[in-house]
Amino acid sequence: MDQATSSELPIFAEHDNDPRALAEEILKSLTYRVGKDASVATPYDWLAASIKVVRDRIIERWIASTKEAYTQQRKRVYYLSMEFLIGRLMRDAFSNLGLMENMREALKILDVEIDVIAGLEPDAALGNGGLGRLAACFMESMASVDLPAHGYGIRYVHGLFRQEIQDGWQVELPETWLDHGNPWEFERRERSVEIGFGGTVESITSKDGRLERHVWRPQERVLAVAYDTPVVGWRGKRVNTLRLWSAMAVDPILLAAFNAGDHIGALREANQAASLTRVLYPADSHQAGQELRLRQEYFFTAASLQDIVQRHLSQYGDLMTLPDKAAIHLNDTHPAVAIAELMRLLMDVYGIDFDTAWGLTKRTFAYTNHTLLPEALESWPVPVFERLLPRHMQIVYAINAQVLLEARSRQIFDDEQIRRISLIHEDGDRRVRMGNLAFAGSHSINGVSGLHTDLMKQTVFSDLNRLYPGRINNKTNGITPRRWLMQCNPGLTALAREAIGDRFLDDTDALKELNRFASDPAFRDRFAAVKRANKERLAELVDERLSLRIDPSALFDVQIKRIHEYKRQLLNIIEAVALYDQIRSHPEKDWLPRVKFLAGKAAPSYHNAKLIIKLANDVARVINRDPSVRGLLKLVFIPNYSVSVAEIMVPAADLSEQISTAGMEASGTGNMKFALNGAITIGTLDGANVEISECVGEDNIVIFGLKAHEVEETRRKGYEPRAIIESSPELGQALHAISSGVFSPDDPHRYKALVDGLYETDWFMVAADFDSFADAQRRVDDIWRNAPDWHAKAIRNTANVGWFSSDRTIREYDRDIWHAGL
Ligand SMILES: *Cc1c(COP(=O)(O)O)cnc(C)c1O
Repeated sequence: MDQATSSELPIFAEHDNDPRALAEEILKSLTYRVGKDASVATPYDWLAASIKVVRDRIIERWIASTKEAYTQQRKRVYYLSMEFLIGRLMRDAFSNLGLMENMREALKILDVEIDVIAGLEPDAALGNGGLGRLAACFMESMASVDLPAHGYGIRYVHGLFRQEIQDGWQVELPETWLDHGNPWEFERRERSVEIGFGGTVESITSKDGRLERHVWRPQERVLAVAYDTPVVGWRGKRVNTLRLWSAMAVDPILLAAFNAGDHIGALREANQAASLTRVLYPADSHQAGQELRLRQEYFFTAASLQDIVQRHLSQYGDLMTLPDKAAIHLNDTHPAVAIAELMRLLMDVYGIDFDTAWGLTKRTFAYTNHTLLPEALESWPVPVFERLLPRHMQIVYAINAQVLLEARSRQIFDDEQIRRISLIHEDGDRRVRMGNLAFAGSHSINGVSGLHTDLMKQTVFSDLNRLYPGRINNKTNGITPRRWLMQCNPGLTALAREAIGDRFLDDTDALKELNRFASDPAFRDRFAAVKRANKERLAELVDERLSLRIDPSALFDVQIKRIHEYKRQLLNIIEAVALYDQIRSHPEKDWLPRVKFLAGKAAPSYHNAKLIIKLANDVARVINRDPSVRGLLKLVFIPNYSVSVAEIMVPAADLSEQISTAGMEASGTGNMKFALNGAITIGTLDGANVEISECVGEDNIVIFGLKAHEVEETRRKGYEPRAIIESSPELGQALHAISSGVFSPDDPHRYKALVDGLYETDWFMVAADFDSFADAQRRVDDIWRNAPDWHAKAIRNTANVGWFSSDRTIREYDRDIWHAGL
């Protein structure tokens, strides 16, 4: 492996980063900060000691970055997100500071293997999937491109559950990432703020009877305590802050009750308060409708806004300049109540009139929409919202009155359209529509891929877009190339540096220079060797964890993401069953060995998603044991998908499965990670696949299936899956095998309802796309048969997806939305 980027980074002259000096510092840190002697230190102790040594260097940069934003009066970006799916931070920090190789050597001097201790760091899994991972990539990119930014979220004690597979079924276990402490965070008790819930609203009138202002008198109060994590940018240029809020009781113990003998009652309130931030809701692309969720949303939003307003006032003394110095970004609608909260602060606390406050609010906020799935569009029953946030309910009504007035005065909307614009859903039970609130209160609303943004304009926000034209814009998602190329694929990084120099480390567009090597046989061989080594590493992991032998020379076909019907793992599994059938009935054909990998978590309450996991495991058991397959096809379900698992699987993939029903995946970011690491995509024209296809060229991607408008048309005209299944013998046989119990002899009817659903409704159009998908897989086989051609295409993928760096995405956000002066 090549030297990392350490030596040429002229930073931290004040520290001696020589391995020997570092080794000494680590020892000192072990003694004085961890409190252990080297002779008894556990690997966890070495991990903590090493992190603290590097952390010192980060803290200096952190303070400098904070000062710089202050003295230069720079506009700050505030990124509010319910989720940050960070993963491990050690490698990120070491590598971004250019200390990776020196730390490796320093630890070697101490007889400690860096990879061993790196593997002990728990993943910070404070998110479900793509949305949370995007927030984490954005935090890293904002620091890397030198944008003063603060992330705000929740410090869940339990992040996304740990998944075990028992007898093929998903079992959820609590995730306990804080068990060994968290050396990255700093508790900031002094930044605690009080958050209210419930209670009443008092209207205060002046002597002449005019309404002066409203005072919210909450019934409950909870303390929000700040925990700060430094986020280091590439080359350590800037260190930003991720501030996560933890809930605590205002009164840790009710002394009067305790002294009166009610010992348990005296502590109940403290327990209740702390439980607010105990656990992350595990549903992805589905609204969690429970009251605790709304409490979480308001809790972190209100704490963040108090923080932002306080910081602004202490520096500038006047809230009229807030939009010039603060851009608040809403990552989906989860923090959208921030709009009502800022209005409340401006009007009720600072005495600003409604119109002025509304103008300031709209200029301050921007909102990203992440999904068009109806079940994911957030709305809250008016009675719940009103009980928990009575003042905010009044403000939402006042905003709505203003919006509807503007809509009516335009005279272009009929009653139905006005009803759709309303912030309150009025048919049946009345609900607050968080998307409409976010739209109305923001100057910018963005989608996350070109297609998604177009569909947004045509569907959910078509009326609001006509009322407020020009607000909707596109910002195609991105991924940080530090984590998703340089750290996870050191082999490919080293090879690229040798071939084209280091420029791509700072500007991924420079990867384009690799294009000329696609036709160079020597380079192709070395590229293939890197891939092979990554595949061997994954094969070892599979052997260790699942006691299953796989052949690293087989085609590694990978679909890893949340398990969801729209992502169509089912289509992939059915195709595997059909292929299994073909291999057995045509043994004479020239089949190529393939290993299909699946990984992903299902929401615990999502019945079909969990059944699909069981099906994958049932099919895997049968196929993997069947001697007549002669090892030509294997199916592997890797448990507990996470950022760290992705970091091993992505660099090892030959084929990237991005096969969602067109129009349903807003962007996807997994698709970008794979392409960057030289996998070829088999995919539908959905989300960012469309743009990946444009970047790599249609010869270097395998596209199949209905397009978004065709899905829509097919549904409109009346889709009949049964007829399609009956005309496709391969599909019919595979479905028959599944529903008749070939893979579930212990419970032959296990999959009957699942398969019946495909015959009857098949909302996600598995049947409609099956033949096209199976044909596309045979095209993949044909490319794979010609190894030099395959590797040339793979190289062209890496070379042409530099545009998907989240640095580019962040620069676009700043140019068009935040205007923080990059
Ligand atoms: C990138 C990533 C995702 C998002 O994957 P998609 O394929 O875009 O759905 C989800 N989870 C983890 C752990 C990731 O790293």
